[in-house]
Amino acid sequence: MRWLDECGTMLPADNQGMDPERIRFCRRFFPEVTAAQWSDWRWQLRHRLQDLGTLERFFCLSAGERAALEQRGSGLPVAVTPYYAALLDPDHPGDPLRRTVLPVADEWVRAVGEAEDPLDEARDRVVNGLIHRHPDRVVFLASHSCAAYCRYCTRSRLVGQKQKLNDRWEQALAYIAAHGEIREVLVSGGDPLLLSTARLTALLSRLRAIPHVELVRLGSRIPMVLPMRVTKRLVAMLQRFQPLVMSIHVTHPAELTTEALRALHRLADAGVMLVSQTVLLAGINDDFATMSRLLRSLVRHRVRPYYLYQCDPIWGSAHFRVPVEQGIALVEQLARELSGLALPRYVIDAPGGGGKITIGPVTMVGREAGFLVLKDASGRIWRYPDPPVVSGTLAGV
Ligand SMILES: *Cc1c(COP(=O)(O)O)cnc(C)c1O
Repeated sequence: MRWLDECGTMLPADNQGMDPERIRFCRRFFPEVTAAQWSDWRWQLRHRLQDLGTLERFFCLSAGERAALEQRGSGLPVAVTPYYAALLDPDHPGDPLRRTVLPVADEWVRAVGEAEDPLDEARDRVVNGLIHRHPDRVVFLASHSCAAYCRYCTRSRLVGQKQKLNDRWEQALAYIAAHGEIREVLVSGGDPLLLSTARLTALLSRLRAIPHVELVRLGSRIPMVLPMRVTKRLVAMLQRFQPLVMSIHVTHPAELTTEALRALHRLADAGVMLVSQTVLLAGINDDFATMSRLLRSLVRHRVRPYYLYQCDPIWGSAHFRVPVEQGIALVEQLARELSGLALPRYVIDAPGGGGKITIGPVTMVGREAGFLVLKDASGRIWRYPDPPVVSGTLAGV
């Protein structure tokens, strides 16, 4: 069925599964689109907002956003799916979701300690597209592209390039096959769910065929920025490759829309183990109300919070970075008020390639005559006998 809106414009053919907010957005910006097109992930990719001319039709741009978009040509690409654009505030540049995807002039500011590749992943690159830092697991960079480009991306040096990936897979797969100590392959990128289903199937089959690979973990932001990619067909395919873990990059509770939740539920119903990874971002998710809402919602929708990252010091990230002491205070409050199931590990991926180091309040505050002195999240002191010192036996034993 088609119908006319108040202005006499033809509306989407059918609104099956479409959120009313998204229908309003479509009426305004994509009056000709059908619900079937809107829900087609390839349509979403083709219609991404990528340049100043397009973005200024959707958003009232700030001077900083405009300057950043005018200066483009090098650096991290800009892309926002129409779906994600519909979640952003068109009038307020300070809107948290908007800040994660629209560039601002601050991206050109350099701060002490920032680098293009702060984690020095290049050093642990064993073959093209494969990072082997920890003995039993590798990061497999399967794709250069993302559906939307996060302005704080730790792999901004790699994403958005138009390279051929074919031969790289062969080298990486051969390396994994030749290294029996590798038990887990973390498929990342870019976003691996941007590969065609056929290509992703091929990759998962090849990985599964290596006897010592026990676990495959997919790192993806797709359920948040392009949830229509999580089709029944994709999920049915993923289900064949159990055990499969998906680590979902999620930033803000406003991302957990009807569509995103549908994608998460599909994955969880298929038995994919869902965990989350979130970057702590100044003014975006660094307050207790926002972060607790995010973490609680994730658990409720069967996603176990896994990592809360201190923002990596990539170039031009100072405006995103929260001072660590502030991060720790937030984590302490979360620990006091939330279920343990909702608490992620707060980590710094050590610049230079040290890997992820858990940071948090000091809980082991000292030792006192055979006791370990502990401090709880409220600052109270407790004692635990350690190491064990035998003082006698029970009578009769
Ligand atoms: C994060 C990461 C892993 C996975 O580490 P886990 O502690 O298992 O989450 C593996 N390799 C690299 C290079 C990483 O950055």
